[in-house]
Amino acid sequence: MLINAEHLLQYQRCKRRPFLDTHGDRSQRDPINELLLKVQQDKIAHHLSVLTQFTYHQPDYPPRNWQAGAAATLELMQQGVEYIHKGVLLTTYSEEYTLLSRPDILMKQPGTSNFGDWMYVPVNIELGKRPKQEYQVVVAFHAQTLTMVQGVTPETAWLILRNKDQGYTVDLCRWIPQMQQILEEFTQVIESPQAPEIFISRQKCNLCHWYSHCYAIAHSQQHLSLLPGITPVRYNQLQAISVTTLESFANTSLSTLENLPGFEGRIAPKLVVQAQSALEKRPFILPDPLPTEYLTFTAPIELYFDIEAQPDLNLHYLLGVLVVDRQANTEQFYSFLAEKPADEKLIWQQFLDLVWQYPKAPIYHFCVYEFDTVKQMAKLYGTPNSSVNPVLNRFVDVYEQLTQSVALPVESYALKAIARWIGFEWRDQEASGAKCIYWYDQWLETGDRTLLEIIQRYNEDDCRATRRVKDWLVKFVQEAWMETEVATK
Ligand code: SF4
Repeated sequence: MLINAEHLLQYQRCKRRPFLDTHGDRSQRDPINELLLKVQQDKIAHHLSVLTQFTYHQPDYPPRNWQAGAAATLELMQQGVEYIHKGVLLTTYSEEYTLLSRPDILMKQPGTSNFGDWMYVPVNIELGKRPKQEYQVVVAFHAQTLTMVQGVTPETAWLILRNKDQGYTVDLCRWIPQMQQILEEFTQVIESPQAPEIFISRQKCNLCHWYSHCYAIAHSQQHLSLLPGITPVRYNQLQAISVTTLESFANTSLSTLENLPGFEGRIAPKLVVQAQSALEKRPFILPDPLPTEYLTFTAPIELYFDIEAQPDLNLHYLLGVLVVDRQANTEQFYSFLAEKPADEKLIWQQFLDLVWQYPKAPIYHFCVYEFDTVKQMAKLYGTPNSSVNPVLNRFVDVYEQLTQSVALPVESYALKAIARWIGFEWRDQEASGAKCIYWYDQWLETGDRTLLEIIQRYNEDDCRATRRVKDWLVKFVQEAWMETEVATK
């Protein structure tokens, strides 16, 4: 069997994935989605832009004929060419495995190797901005394979990251041993008859082609990883004390949990109530909720605010505000849209003009992003403090108020999950913040106005969803408070 760098990369993200990739039923894999496609396109674009800095040779061989690729690469190395792109390095690993390494660049350096008074070092181009462990392990894998081919360990290896002018030097003395250990574990998992256990984590599972398959299993098992706040560390702690089901967790005494790492302070009582909420499928008031005077109730005029951004362009291209006049019983949505990046300043001013028309209205938003962005935009466009501070003082983070007060039977405290639980639906079922980034890019490329319309609709629905969540929270907390008042009289 061939083991390549992608196997090790995926193994570090999730031990289960390479097992399914090797032994799973491929018909159960999700089809490629737009987001994954965008990541792949971004990766290719980044590679191509970095490669323009190099004058490289490329081995010539029939597709996927790795033996021929390795021979052609060896020939280029023996000739001593400066840079080799898409070189192929093969070496055996125990009896059953062959390591297949294809570093983005092999770079010639002074030194002594099988080829003469030169050697090669591996360079990998990565889309991330930080030298994550998984990247360093991958480049150490290339270095190890290269060692076997050229007869000497490269002195160093490099990562070329996004938005960094300088390459990042990888400490091979540290990373080759770690990589060897990961490689060893990887082969044990592949050889095991049993797939590693599921752990659903939004961050790593979202772009995985086994997501629907794994999620269906986790859902049917009421797997604890579906509970918000259960991290791998906390999950392992629970397993160690034989708390493996939702029911057992919901009934765990706090004294059992309070000394476990990851369950300190308010975390344990909050998580147990979260489990009770999931088990009983109903909302609970948290122990120690925010005092009711900190919860914002209704105002005669309320503004609901949501931003769409394109992080790669450092651009906030859509500022949406829903104005709700409770006394006149009217609603109006304002969509300040930068059809081209240069219009950001204009929409910023339009936003300020609108919110200043209602100088007493609270401005509700979901999560801290809107607050931070308004501060950033004020700085960027030199807006005086006297214009922006009174606006910021009116911001109310519905997410913060909700997560400090209640536990809901949801798998995530993202706006979408909460609003859907309340019964709110987005008009475009498939829309998401990440897809809006993709669609805005497409709009800039194609001029297809329907894409802008979908984004505006999505942004409006986000504002309306924030309103529904806020109204629900106010009602629920008030009712719970009244019940407590009656019970204590
Ligand atoms: S969906 Fe998640 S748990 Fe399943 S294989 Fe993919 S990353 Fe692993």
